[in-house]
Amino acid sequence: MATEETRRQVVIIGSGPAGLTAAIYTARANLNPLLIDAPADTERQTTPGGQLMITTDVENYPGFAKGIEGPELMMEFRKQAERFGTEFLEEWITKVDLQQRPFTLYTENRTIKADTLIIASGASAKWLGVPGEAKTPHGFGGNGVSACATCDGPLPAFRNKRLLVVGGGDTAMEEATFLTRYAAKVYLAHRRDKLRASKIMQEKAFRNEKIEFLWNTELVEILGTQADGVNAVRLRDTRSGEDRTTDVEGVFIAIGHKPNTELFKGQLDMDAVGYIKTNGHSTATNIPGVFACGDVQDSVYRQAITAAGTGCMSAIDAERFLDHLPVEMPSGEEITDEGEHITADRRLIIEPDGEIISNEPAFE
Ligand code: NDP
Repeated sequence: MATEETRRQVVIIGSGPAGLTAAIYTARANLNPLLIDAPADTERQTTPGGQLMITTDVENYPGFAKGIEGPELMMEFRKQAERFGTEFLEEWITKVDLQQRPFTLYTENRTIKADTLIIASGASAKWLGVPGEAKTPHGFGGNGVSACATCDGPLPAFRNKRLLVVGGGDTAMEEATFLTRYAAKVYLAHRRDKLRASKIMQEKAFRNEKIEFLWNTELVEILGTQADGVNAVRLRDTRSGEDRTTDVEGVFIAIGHKPNTELFKGQLDMDAVGYIKTNGHSTATNIPGVFACGDVQDSVYRQAITAAGTGCMSAIDAERFLDHLPVEMPSGEEITDEGEHITADRRLIIEPDGEIISNEPAFE
């Protein structure tokens, strides 16, 4: 099939707080951004709008004194990005070529050329890899096992049932607390005797009478039948190594997230886990003109507000790059799209073949 070719000054991948903030800023700067996001797909675990679309109350996003529901907040972000002319495309990107500019992005029906690329593809839920967790029919995924309480918790299959949540972070606390709205009982299994979650979320979960904490406990197997779904779990005491079976009808895995960076492997510098490396003072990656923001490059803060903040930084970095202003690179040098490098004390103009045509002091 013939593919359509589009060229843009700014292409943004991802529609969470980072991507949409980058869109608001670049659209207001008249850069006519194209924001690409994957269509909703449970198999691939893609959620347009990002993780806030599967969150309930957001109480810590500044500007909303009474709190706001995650999906409603993202709808406001999106409307604001649309208001200034952001164009949206919901397609699965199959390949990217970042070796030369303009960069090339391939979808099933389209080739998209981008002068600058802002990567805001976020992170996805992690799985334990235990027997019974895989998608049905290989396990009970989608048939009693989930990684998203807000998406699946209200389903009839989980109502008035005994459920197990695995994890000790804020996600696990939030999921367990949310599930008590529907479940008869929620067990929360954590592999240590100390939670990682914030104090406020811990206390909320401790106060909830429907939640029972199972300390020093690992989930080793999910049991059930394909006809009726999950009916029990095999748990292991991490200190004694002893196994026991506990009856539950649903399992929610809440052990954190991994960055969505498969597309960029081998092209962008990443840490051992796969987070894209950016320069501490900007959102520049190792490839000039490619910027990364939000959870895809942040393994430390991972908040909606910090994602939005780095989305804004990426937009300003892309705008400066397109204006031929210097952008600081991870190596410490500064670079523009004209091949102008600024080191601490020299300004070098380098031809595409590598020839240095100017070498002057950086500052007069
Ligand atoms: P975290 O990385 O904070 O926590 C993951 C938890 O899962 C840890 O307790 C960890 O155990 C456990 N875990 C990880 N791998 C395994 C495994 N293989 N087996 C058993 N347990 C495992 O992830 P979260 O998703 O909870 O939170 C991510 C970020 O999002 C945080 O910054 C958090 O504050 C934020 N967040 C905020 C919310 C809010 O404010 N409403 C809601 C949800 C998240 P261990 O502790 O032993 O390492």
